[in-house]
Amino acid sequence: MFATKYIFVTGGVTSSLGKGIISASLAKLLQSRGYKVTISKLDPYINVDPGTLNPYEHGECYVTEDGAETDLDLGHYERFLNIPTSQANNVTTGMVYQSVINNERRGDYLGKTVQVIPHITDEIKRRIKYVAKINELDIVITEIGGTVGDIESLPYIESVRQLKWELGTSNCLVIHLTLVPYLATTGELKTKPTQHSVKVLQENGIQPDILVLRTEKSLSDDIRNKVALFCNVEYKSVIESINVSTIYEVPLLMKKERLDYVALQKLGLAPGKEPELIPWSQFVNKVKNPKQMVKIGLIGKYVELRDAYKSISEAFIHAGAMNECKVDLKFIHSESLEEGDVDEKLNELQGILVAPGFGNRGIKGKIIAAKYAREHNVPYLGICLGMQCSVIEFARNVLTMKDADSTEMNPKTPFPVIDLMEEQKGLIQKGGTMRLGAYSCKICKESNTFKAYNIIKFSERHRHRYEFNNKYLEDFEKAGMKAVGINPESGLVEIMEIPGHKWYVGVQFHPEYKSTVINPHPLYIRFVKASMQ
Ligand code: GLN
Repeated sequence: MFATKYIFVTGGVTSSLGKGIISASLAKLLQSRGYKVTISKLDPYINVDPGTLNPYEHGECYVTEDGAETDLDLGHYERFLNIPTSQANNVTTGMVYQSVINNERRGDYLGKTVQVIPHITDEIKRRIKYVAKINELDIVITEIGGTVGDIESLPYIESVRQLKWELGTSNCLVIHLTLVPYLATTGELKTKPTQHSVKVLQENGIQPDILVLRTEKSLSDDIRNKVALFCNVEYKSVIESINVSTIYEVPLLMKKERLDYVALQKLGLAPGKEPELIPWSQFVNKVKNPKQMVKIGLIGKYVELRDAYKSISEAFIHAGAMNECKVDLKFIHSESLEEGDVDEKLNELQGILVAPGFGNRGIKGKIIAAKYAREHNVPYLGICLGMQCSVIEFARNVLTMKDADSTEMNPKTPFPVIDLMEEQKGLIQKGGTMRLGAYSCKICKESNTFKAYNIIKFSERHRHRYEFNNKYLEDFEKAGMKAVGINPESGLVEIMEIPGHKWYVGVQFHPEYKSTVINPHPLYIRFVKASMQ
């Protein structure tokens, strides 16, 4: 049997310390040492997947190639590792309970009382190991959502304890990420919260092997020694994670701190070759030292929470670096465009992106932004709902189809230029039922999209229920908005462009999901370039 090693990443003291980034950075280093590795995320909430969550609750919903709606941390994993994740990489409490309850209804437990231990923990362990089984991996890193001590994450912590016991400490490693706060009044870094949080883990039967300490000031030897002694870990296992200006610097810092080396030693694995991170460092350099600046507006309705548009913001960082340019992304609430002087609000922008979304709120402002970009020859990228808004706008203002709309917003519109997809009709269940994941797209050579991709056929990831209504295609094309990308199997319109415009592209898919550090997305690169000119 293939012997995979497991690394668990837990968090203590507060949430949002960057477990996802630490996991991704460690994975990146192990990958560059020659190991085959992936990362999974265990989420303690009861939703079966985050697809039904409002972005305000939990940030963006990230979509994988195989069409799973997952936690946004999977986006970080893909952007760092440059390999796709799948449904198996994200487990929620809802999923675990759903399987166990289905087993129970089938009668699989043969009259036993179904309990958290062993039934729920067995299902969690099965899912942790399943990722390794399908991919024959050397190392699986599993990030446990939430903070130790949360009631919700207890079954996961218990599963880790059991796995460590079953597989042995040389096959299973626990990395605990905590905060070392700095008290400005006394000018001191404080280790007590870390000590307490390690105690919570110990109470649950887990001795962490490595501690990663998030801090705003460099840790002295004294502090490292103190943490090592009080928390029962080796000195070399106390790793500093100091605040940095870009998350992409974290792998370089972790390399300096030898996090990967210590982890491999503890797992009894050969260190392999020294991690070679030249392209990565070059990328970080470009991010930190841009030669130019471009102001692009992101028009959305969840802008109060930046995480709601995580993949888009990251795609701009990748594309910016490729153009040696910093994208100054202005988050603009679409509702704020519904009144007042639009020109005043948008004229400082060199590019406009209208974001994905659902429902009526904020639609008016998105349509106004699409109109502004079209009329003022400002480069435009419409993503999913952003593409649909540009279609509605064009219908209303160029084709004079009064009250043209998407049937999502107005089911009674006389001109349903965006309409519910045939296969969506009659669906009642909301969870996991959209058109999800990778579908192919064929494009025409005379388009800005082709100039970006340089290939005729590719696939991109989707998450939508509505589509361009092909009944109106001729009207649109005659008036100057063209369907330049089509799904070859279904004829569904994937890309709309206005050839007479400087750069006006609307896509039904989400290119940002596939943008990585090593492979920045061509459409974003071209959009940034067009905005720079
Ligand atoms: N609400 C639109 C649809 O379902 C767009 C979805 C999106 O932007 N992801 O088709």
